[in-house]
Amino acid sequence: SPPTQRRAIRELPDELISQIAAGEVVERPASVVRELVDNALDAGASQINVKLMAGGVRAIVVEDDGLGIPVEELPLALKRHATSKIRSLEELESVATMGFRGEALAAIASVAEMAIATRCEGAPHANRLDARSGELSPAARSRGTSVEVRELFFSTPARRKFLKTDATELAHCLEAVRRHALARPDVGFAIWHEGKLVEQWRAAGAEQRLKDVLGEEFFAASRAVFSEAGPLRVFGRAGLPEAARSRSDMQYVYVNGRYVRDKLIAHGIRSAYEDVLHGNRQPSYVLFIEIAPDRVDVNVHPTKIEVRFRDGREIHQRVRYAVQGALAISRSAEEAAAAP
Ligand code: ADP
Ligand code: MG
Repeated sequence: SPPTQRRAIRELPDELISQIAAGEVVERPASVVRELVDNALDAGASQINVKLMAGGVRAIVVEDDGLGIPVEELPLALKRHATSKIRSLEELESVATMGFRGEALAAIASVAEMAIATRCEGAPHANRLDARSGELSPAARSRGTSVEVRELFFSTPARRKFLKTDATELAHCLEAVRRHALARPDVGFAIWHEGKLVEQWRAAGAEQRLKDVLGEEFFAASRAVFSEAGPLRVFGRAGLPEAARSRSDMQYVYVNGRYVRDKLIAHGIRSAYEDVLHGNRQPSYVLFIEIAPDRVDVNVHPTKIEVRFRDGREIHQRVRYAVQGALAISRSAEEAAAAP
């Protein structure tokens, strides 16, 4: 029924503001994993360990060997809009780190129990901050940071109900790490679930990492993509038609090292396959696009999975040609091999 009496406008309490904002950032355990791994990479980690319980719903621990957080800044790390990554609009426009909003840790802390243990080079010991109680205590660990997140959505049962089975949440968490791992072959990743090691990718070259993460089979059934012109570089691997799948679950696109899902790019790639893939067959690919930072806006959405290009049509065309080139080379090579 329509309201008969209006309610007065009030400012929301800070905690509620954070919880509402958190909804944008934290949808499920995989979103937490993603943000924490982003942070580990931004801190220069060379090894990142992800430990999960019950698909990440019970617990997510992400450990890195990065630069750590000085103890005096630890409380700030949990504050909204507090970041070490940008200071000005100019820096936002050329941002090279994965994070820059200063929202993730605050968001996670508002929908889960969280603690951070961290140590910088030269610090006499590590420190651990419990987000809920604000209690700071000495801890034991070498240089780097461990973030523990427990009981996701414990205080918001309505949101918790939207979580799927542990197996499904685990699969999303693994996919989140896989996306990072493909882009950062120079970093080692290991994932445990319920105390058991489920994935381990050692630091390697780009080609080896691709094989490790997506399988030798994909690698053998794909071709190198490379195209460079002006400020735009497109490279990676495009699956041959025989590597096509019924689902679009092996499609990875990165813009300046950031995993994105972009309709324009996906369409550009898809159109490169128009003569060789039919029906609902989905191409497999891993494509890295590098472009001058002033030609792309990564600041579109809090989960940063969307980007906006200054010249979308050019990107579309270049991606299409790059992939077509890779597929055409493979076709003529096969024809040559088939010739008597
Ligand atoms: P953002 O990544 O956008 O800056 P976050 O909320 O994710 O925001 O993190 C806040 C700040 O905490 C970061 O800017 C960084 O200085 C620090 N931080 C978070 N995680 C780590 C980490 N694993 N290692 C070192 N510093 C970290
Ligand atoms: Mg971050």
